[in-house]
Amino acid sequence: MKLHRRLSQLDNTINFAGNSAADDQHYLGIEATFPSYSQHVLECLVTKTPLQPPDRPLSANEMIPPTLKFLDSNVPSGSEIIVEYPGSTACVVSNDRITSIDHFQDVRHIKVKTDEYNWKPGDIMEIDVENCSHDVEVFMKAMEWEDRRVEISGDPTLPPVVTIKDLLTRFYTPFALLKNSGAFLELYSKLNPLEKLKELAREPNEAQAYIGKPGRNIAEVLHDFPLSISPIWLGDLLPKLKPRQYSIAGHQNGVVDLCIALVEYKTILVEPRRGLASRYFASAAAGNFIVIPFVPC
Ligand SMILES: Cc1cc2nc3c(=O)[nH]c(=O)nc-3n(C[C@H](O)[C@H](O)[C@H](O)COP(=O)(O)OP(=O)(O)OC[C@H]3O[C@@H](n4cnc5c(N)ncnc54)[C@H](O)[C@@H]3O)c2cc1C
Repeated sequence: MKLHRRLSQLDNTINFAGNSAADDQHYLGIEATFPSYSQHVLECLVTKTPLQPPDRPLSANEMIPPTLKFLDSNVPSGSEIIVEYPGSTACVVSNDRITSIDHFQDVRHIKVKTDEYNWKPGDIMEIDVENCSHDVEVFMKAMEWEDRRVEISGDPTLPPVVTIKDLLTRFYTPFALLKNSGAFLELYSKLNPLEKLKELAREPNEAQAYIGKPGRNIAEVLHDFPLSISPIWLGDLLPKLKPRQYSIAGHQNGVVDLCIALVEYKTILVEPRRGLASRYFASAAAGNFIVIPFVPC
């Protein structure tokens, strides 16, 4: 509101589409008011600055080309691809459960060795997490995606040459909770002509009952509505894996102490829901490397 008021003072034409407020109490989540407002802004924009031919608004069923572009790759098969992470690595020294086995939450004391920075208790360590290799293989099999090398353009944050499996292990995740189901369903229902999917895309209440309430992830929705599609769509269908932050509990002789509470909870689904990083840390053994994407301030 403050920003809006300031911009309006600077230039009153900025307020061409009126205001809309997010609603953190909305039963569909804080972003539930966004789609209708975004549609309204687009309509106002087209009226205010009409497109000049040959440009024209896309119709509801038209597809925007995929974000990622896979170029023909000349990388010889069998040669290893080393993906360079920006940042540094730290080695897990130990990973011990500190809550008793009958306690409802598994809390870990994880020690990691890193000589790079002078960490202090209270600093935040960011850690890149990965999807479990087995889960990725099962997902690729279900999607009928062969592991192959691809050259990528269209996203400077990704390595120029990578395998599909690496993309799904380190950069994108099909296992995150589907929080913004509206955008996902809108795209997937265009790729997959199933009527039930289109119905879910049209009816936020139904989407909430099927996806939001039980906490389904993307892999589960794709499993329920299977379609053989090209992996080129993975950059649009799947969210990027984001680093997780942890407060540093202690630091001595280059060894950092982290206290990590693993997220696991039950819903109406049979499979318990587990956090992505929690799954990663549950099995992080001494000697494993974790990646710290950038230096803390
Ligand atoms: C500055 C900062 C410092 C932090 N420090 C620490 C720390 O020292 N130790 C620590 O353990 N964590 C810390 N965290 C939290 C940590 O970054 C992760 O968010 C946490 O470990 C969960 O990550 P995840 O990938 O396992 O879960 P995710 O895959 O991100 O899943 C978490 C999501 O699961 C859902 N969820 C979780 N529990 C339930 C439930 N009971 N019912 C329904 N839905 C649920 C929520 O939607 C939640 O957003 C910190 C976070 C920040 C921002």
